Amino acid sequence: MAGLRSFDTPNLEAIERRRFQLWLVSLLLLVVVASAVILLTAFQSVILPSWLTPRWVQISLMGMIILFCAYAIEKEIQLGRLTRVLIDERVLTASLTSRIYEVQSLLEAGKAINLDLNLEEVVSTILSCARELLDGHDCSIQLCYGDDELRTVNIAGQSAAAGARMKIGQGIAGRVAETREPVLINGQVEHKGFRKPTPAAPNSAMSVHLVHRNVLLGVLNVNARDHRIYTEHDLRAFGIFGEQAAIALANAQLYEAQRLTASQTTYRALHDGLTGLPNRALFLDRVDHALSRRREASERVALLFVDLDDFKRINDSLGHLAGDAVIAAFAERLRAGIRAADTVARFGGDEFAVLVDGISSDAEARRAADRIYSELSRPIAVADREVRIGASIGIAIGAGASEDDDGGENSGSSELLRNADTALHVAKSLGKNQVTVFEPSMRAEVLRRFDLESDLDGALDRLEVTVHYQPIHQLSTREIVGVEALVRWNHPRRGLLAAGAWVPLAEQIGLLPAIDRFVLAETCRTLAPLLRERSDFSVNINLSPARLQDPSITSEVQKVLDASGVDPSHLVFEITESAMLRDGESTARRLNAIRSLGIRLALDDFGTGYSSLSHLRRFPVDTVKIDRTFVEELNHAQNNGSGGHGRTLIEAILRLGHGLNLAVIAEGIESEQQASSLVDLGCDLGQGYLLARPMPIEDLRSLLG
Ligand code: C2E
Ligand code: MG
Ligand code: MG
Repeated sequence: MAGLRSFDTPNLEAIERRRFQLWLVSLLLLVVVASAVILLTAFQSVILPSWLTPRWVQISLMGMIILFCAYAIEKEIQLGRLTRVLIDERVLTASLTSRIYEVQSLLEAGKAINLDLNLEEVVSTILSCARELLDGHDCSIQLCYGDDELRTVNIAGQSAAAGARMKIGQGIAGRVAETREPVLINGQVEHKGFRKPTPAAPNSAMSVHLVHRNVLLGVLNVNARDHRIYTEHDLRAFGIFGEQAAIALANAQLYEAQRLTASQTTYRALHDGLTGLPNRALFLDRVDHALSRRREASERVALLFVDLDDFKRINDSLGHLAGDAVIAAFAERLRAGIRAADTVARFGGDEFAVLVDGISSDAEARRAADRIYSELSRPIAVADREVRIGASIGIAIGAGASEDDDGGENSGSSELLRNADTALHVAKSLGKNQVTVFEPSMRAEVLRRFDLESDLDGALDRLEVTVHYQPIHQLSTREIVGVEALVRWNHPRRGLLAAGAWVPLAEQIGLLPAIDRFVLAETCRTLAPLLRERSDFSVNINLSPARLQDPSITSEVQKVLDASGVDPSHLVFEITESAMLRDGESTARRLNAIRSLGIRLALDDFGTGYSSLSHLRRFPVDTVKIDRTFVEELNHAQNNGSGGHGRTLIEAILRLGHGLNLAVIAEGIESEQQASSLVDLGCDLGQGYLLARPMPIEDLRSLLG
């Protein structure tokens, strides 16, 4: 590699000294020659030898002078040339120094603008460097926005308006962006077709395009201070600076995009895509925070686990898009229904969780659940119809670690969540729209249900399911006029289980329609011989809401009737009020189709749920079954002598039922008192342990004789 070399060059002062010496010598020579001429003239005869004539002396002197003059002129020419070379060199050195300074400034500016990756910082450093480098009055930067727009994103100084927009191709910056050529404008002078925009604008201005890898990023502009007039050289320097600025800008934009992607990824990892609510991970983190804050305070936190009732039905009947819309609308209502300090999260599907921070009693947590129910009381408009949804809510209350010693309350979010989940399971087993607050004893119950659930799967195939029959009596004569078919499960370890202990579970896991199909076929098959003998004997069979939604129910029932030879007039399908109300029109259509087969319909458990007497008019039912809770109240009323709500309601149902020509059956008669009161009130039909318990077919046969 070639090393740096230094070499001496004559300097201007030495040349001046030489010149001075030359002229001094010339002067001396002149004096000598002049003196010689004078002496020769005055003392000619004395000084000169005889052979040397004055003429020869004069010629010699003249010759000497001419020779010396020639020498002096030659030297002068040499020295003059050297002087010019030296002056040129000095000018060159000065200009080189200034270039080096410029390059140094540009390098420093380049370094400065590449120091940061934050886009805002980079833009403002570019502007301040450009202003300093070019002694600018103000600078501005426009960045590309979309394909055809520039927006002023930042200014240093006062002239440009931040946020101003212009189309590419319009205005000075717009045209620089379009042509990708830097522009210098001095005074009113036109430059490459540009003209100073307004008389008030600065005398001198430059604009350069910011392009990186052939991608236009924007335009950088500088307006000179009053005294400064930019040159082509400045424009070149500004162009070089613009190239560096473009690199810094491109890096910052890339970094910004990566940061945005990273933050979006983080956001997506912690939020639910459909509703924008926090997801399980973020929610549990918030619960942990809330619990750790509670370590000092006496207040507690409540975790509400919310699960929509029958959401699958909405998805199945209206489609997944409508299901999503319901979820989104419900999420919005949940969000609106909570306080700012609380958190709502979606765990996926129809599961939501609410964190209520800083409660002092269970009642406050229940009030939060009430707020959710009041939000749900309004129907949700979706897919051109109004959907009503219910929700089950499990609540767990958590406190700080100091209160955790009893083991009942917990310090960890996952523990709290598990408790709320347990409470939710219990709430769901109680029916729809139920709220349950967690108690430690619930864990065993939920485990029991879990075992039951796994045992239930396959019970039908293993022939563990069977049907018992509970007689229905004419109350006045105690004559058996019919039976209700009630499903039973012969559990391998737990023995015979009544429907109440497992049918709700079977409903939740979607097994009930299959069970209903089995009960209908089994009942028809078993009772067919008996029914051939007793023409007025009726058989009541329970239909689950899900079975009622099945469009093929009518044809399937017809097939069973054909196969067993049972006359449909013997059959009464028992349906609960809520099942009838569900999905209004199509349910009504199916009920009418069932009736047109010749099967009668009974409204089961009347008085619970919606308890609207007007439903008796609206639905094509033949029989009403008064729920046993009213019959039970009838007993209490008689015992304590009060009038009794149940009695009044039974009277009203009987009046309306008889008025509409419906048969009325009282369920759950356990005492003679109840039976005689019902007879007094005019209720002719009844069923209950007093009269007969549900029994296998063999017992029924022997009972009927
Ligand atoms: P349900 O249709 O109201 O049936 C009457 C229930 O009350 C039966 O309970 C019966 O054993 C019980 N019961 C009858 N008399 C008395 C009494 O005097 N006192 C008391 N405390 N209870 C009495 P079970 O068999 O446990 O059935 C419970 C519910 O399960 C039924 O209520 C019905 O809704 C449902 N279910 C039963 N079998 C089926 C079925 O095959 N399909 C469907 N979908 N549901 C069924
Ligand atoms: Mg029933
Ligand atoms: Mg009932």
